[in-house]
Order: sequence, then structure tokens, then C-alpha cells
Amino acid sequence: MIDYLIVGGGMAGCNMAYNLMKNGKTVHMIDEDSDHAASSIAAGIFNPLLPRHRKVAYNANLIYPMITPYYKEFETYLGQQILFEQPIQYFIETNSDLNDWSAMAYSTHLSHWIEVHNTRVPYEFKAPNGFLKIKHSGWVDAKLMGSLMKKKLQVANCFTNARFDYEMLNISDTEINYQHLKAKSVIFCEGKEVKENSWNKNISLKPAKGEILIIKTNLEINYIAQQGVFMAPLGNNLFKVGSTFSWDELDEIPTEAGRKEIIYKFEKFFRGEYEVVDHYAGVRPSSGDRRPILGPLQPYSNAFVLNGLGSKGVALAPYYSELLTQFLLKGDTIEKEVNTSRYKFEVQH
Ligand SMILES: Cc1cc2nc3c(=O)[nH]c(=O)nc-3n(C[C@H](O)[C@H](O)[C@H](O)COP(=O)(O)OP(=O)(O)OC[C@H]3O[C@@H](n4cnc5c(N)ncnc54)[C@H](O)[C@@H]3O)c2cc1C
Repeated sequence: MIDYLIVGGGMAGCNMAYNLMKNGKTVHMIDEDSDHAASSIAAGIFNPLLPRHRKVAYNANLIYPMITPYYKEFETYLGQQILFEQPIQYFIETNSDLNDWSAMAYSTHLSHWIEVHNTRVPYEFKAPNGFLKIKHSGWVDAKLMGSLMKKKLQVANCFTNARFDYEMLNISDTEINYQHLKAKSVIFCEGKEVKENSWNKNISLKPAKGEILIIKTNLEINYIAQQGVFMAPLGNNLFKVGSTFSWDELDEIPTEAGRKEIIYKFEKFFRGEYEVVDHYAGVRPSSGDRRPILGPLQPYSNAFVLNGLGSKGVALAPYYSELLTQFLLKGDTIEKEVNTSRYKFEVQH
């Protein structure tokens, strides 16, 4: 019997599998590999700063300083680079914003997170007011991470590339049965597709569609430029530029409106020559309160969830997959803001 059956192999499932295995547990992952999954589309950027709100993200002190060491260790395990230590340079819009940021960078808690620079940037950027260099920011190749992790699991016979059939699952107090597999517990990590999970009677998401362009331009930078949209270097003169947010049509089809919105925001700070060479769309598994969702799936004692990673899977997956692992192994507390217990379970009659 294996310890954990994991359903879903995106950021949530792969980080869960990695942390459980690091702690000596056995896992089997079932994932229908999809080029449309959020983890395959994501730009993979981690950024603790919320510039419009002039504050850092929820739990930033716990979550962000661990990201670089965590992914460095993970890439050693995977045997290939997945982490790119290219910080975000956030272009400051106005001179008055520059004054405000300068004051905040010296006299508030933001001094741990930002440096204000008023130095020259390449001609292609319209950035006369300097930029913030955001500490603990960078990007991870989430798609590569997922495919390397699943290959590792496959080689060890711990991976099935298939659609999980909820009808074939049996959860009893003592064990989980699925086809030929027997496990002590199951962890659901299906992202936005959790709505298809017939064992889930309470958790619902508020997914957000997002679009990204791949552009080609003759510019060499080793940072992520940002102002309204980001421009992240991929190498070979290619850059990811995005992204959009919409809550109406939750499909993976790129739209003309999405393309126009990205280009409009991009050209506000970029005046170089470029061409669009690709365009993707995906759906983020966001929760209604924008917090991750982890913990037991009520009313079962051996079914669990890691979901709701929203637009920050790369940043949130390390900390919260570790926390869920410590909850499972040692009973560590999961704070109420992110706990599945905030979704009321109603007994079905
Ligand atoms: C345009 C865009 C840009 C983004 N940019 C960033 C970014 O810069 N930084 C960042 O941190 N995040 C970003 N994100 C968000 C990030 O992609 C998500 O937070 C993260 O990928 C969520 O991971 P997940 O594992 O929860 O879900 P997913 O990636 O959706 O993975 C779920 C997996 O489960 C599988 N699955 C579901 N149901 C079943 C089933 N029944 N049987 C078998 N398999 C199943 C799916 O096929 C999929 O492989 C972006 C997202 C989008 C759409």
C-alpha cells in the first residue's frame, strides 16, 4: 500500500509529491498531462510586492525568503535548471511616485523588499523615473519543473498519465482504493478542475482566465521589466509578456481583446521593435478570497486538498505544500485563513 495518492500534477501536485517523498513517504500521481493546465501556461514569476497597494503579499515574510533556496534544492533533485534569478525591475510611473517610493524604501517595512534606483535603463524602455528592484523576485520554469518531476515519478513507476475517474474511487475509513492502487490517503490537486470532483461537496473556486504573448525583440536584459504588464526574458531574444485577468469566459482560447490589452500596456513602457510570435491562454485556480486552500476534505479523515494557488502558484506552492506535509506527518496547524475548514461542509440529505 502506498502512503499518498495524488490527483493532479501541476504546481500543487508536483510540490506535494516532492515534499512527501523528501519526508520518506511513498506517492503515486495520476495526472492527465495538459498543455492547457495553468502550470504549463504560467509565466512562473514570483513577486512579493503589490505595487498598486504599496504593500507586500499575504504572509510574504514566511513565503518569499524560502523560494530561492527551495527551488535550488528542487532543481538539484531534478537535475536541471528551473529557477532563474532575474529580479523584477518595476518602472516607476511618475516623479511623485518616485518620491513616495524613495521615502517608503527607507522608512517602512518595505525597505526589506525594494531598492529604488534612478539609473539609466536601455533606450527601448520609457522609464524616466527610475525603477524599483524587487528583492526575493524572479521566475521558475513551471512547465519544465512539472515535466521533469513527472518523468522522475514515471521512472519509479509512481505516475499514471490518465484522466482520474472519480466513479472508480473508493474512500473508506482505513484505505483508499482506485483501480489496482491502494493508498492510505488521497490528496486532490486538480486546480480549476476540482469542480469535476464528485467527492468534493464544499470547495469552490473563482477561476480567472489569463493570456500571455511571446514576443521577439533584439534586447538583452537579465531582469524582468514590469509596469502594468511584465516582460520576462526567455533567452534567444524571446520574452513572455502579460498577463490579463478575466472571469467571464473560462476557456483556454487566446482572444484578440487579450492580445490588444497586453500590447496596449506593453507599449506604454516599451518603444523597441518587436514581433509577436505566440499567444497562449490558461485559467488560474483562484479562490474567492484569493487565499490558497489546504487541509482535510470534509467529511473524510484521509482525503486532503491543495488548491487555490491562483495567480501565485510558484510562490505559494513551496510554503503551503511543506505546511500541508507537516500537517499530515506531525499535525502542524494550518492557519484558518487558508484552511479548507473555512468552506462550510453541508451534509447532503
Ligand atoms: C496566463 C497565466 C499566467 C500566470 N502567471 C503566473 C506567474 O507568473 N507566476 C505564478 O506564480 N503563477 C502564475 N500563474 C498561475 C499558476 O499557473 C497557478 O497558480 C498554478 O499553475 C496552479 O497550479 P495547480 O497545480 O493548482 O493547477 P494546474 O496547473 O491547473 O494543475 C492541475 C493538474 O491537474 C490535472 N487534472 C485535473 N483534473 C484531473 C483529473 N480528473 N484527472 C487527471 N488529472 C487531472 C490537470 O490536467 C493539471 O495537470 C499564471 C496562470 C496563467 C493562466
